Amino acid sequence: MVDNRNELSRCAIGIDIGGTKMAVAVIGETGAILARSVLPTEAERGFGWAVDRLSSSVERLMATTGQGLLAAIGIGCAGPVDPRRGLINNPYTLAGWDHCDIVSPLSERFGVGTWIENDADAAAFGECACGAGQGVDPVVMLTFGTGIGGAAIVGGQIYRGVQGEHPEVGHIPISDSGPPCYCGLHGCLEALASGTAIGAAGQASGFEDARAVFRAAADGNTVARSIIDRAVGAAATAAWTICHTFLPQRLVLGGGMIHDHFELFAQAMRERLQPATQFTRSAVSIAAARLGNDAGVVGAASLALQRSAPHRPAQP
Ligand SMILES: [Zn+2]
Repeated sequence: MVDNRNELSRCAIGIDIGGTKMAVAVIGETGAILARSVLPTEAERGFGWAVDRLSSSVERLMATTGQGLLAAIGIGCAGPVDPRRGLINNPYTLAGWDHCDIVSPLSERFGVGTWIENDADAAAFGECACGAGQGVDPVVMLTFGTGIGGAAIVGGQIYRGVQGEHPEVGHIPISDSGPPCYCGLHGCLEALASGTAIGAAGQASGFEDARAVFRAAADGNTVARSIIDRAVGAAATAAWTICHTFLPQRLVLGGGMIHDHFELFAQAMRERLQPATQFTRSAVSIAAARLGNDAGVVGAASLALQRSAPHRPAQP
């Protein structure tokens, strides 16, 4: 039999694990999604059961694509995770999944290098590999959803803080008089501008949820307008802080709220940054994330491909 491995293009598996669902995809070297499937997480049925289902899904997807040499597996997972030891330490949104080694069983079963990262880091890496952060560096990504997540990509690599953690840009202080947050502060960015924060402020004034507040504000309701103005103002102040600390070439905004309201947030950020004197304002841009819900699987697979490539330094 002729060994034609060198003629096959490399591909990687990207896995995105969240509290309610797990996405698995085969990703080509250009970031293209060749095949995908989505499974319910059902964390309460046990970590081993989830690994078995993920493995079966990988086998099925590789069989359906019928092409490409599986070179690596990358996993993005709702944190906390320990990328250096390959562990998921998230009993908060993945019941019972504490100190769970996901790298070893997948690496042994498929015989390829396997890496895990926090899902926000994986998404930011994906945007830099083939989305809104392509060709620029450094990049800070802010994701506005139920909470506010963030990640920084510096020199093409995920920026890590102490113990391998990523920067918690969602907890930048904005207003001491704001609502309390689980991070220990009052009035951080997440406590003022997340979907949860907007929804809570809205419910106190009779609105059903965050979407209803956005709708009413667009229709001119003054109470709703003040809630949205506070959230957007907080985001603009956070952009000022991020630009003065990380000085990114691009600030990428993602998440469900940005999908619907990018210009509202981006315009407020641009106006806030306009008087800045400590960096070249025109050198910093603000862009909407482009990969949507695919950023996690694309990013996880892209970083695994990068780390498994010959002649490239592996990280971590
Ligand atoms: Zn906070």
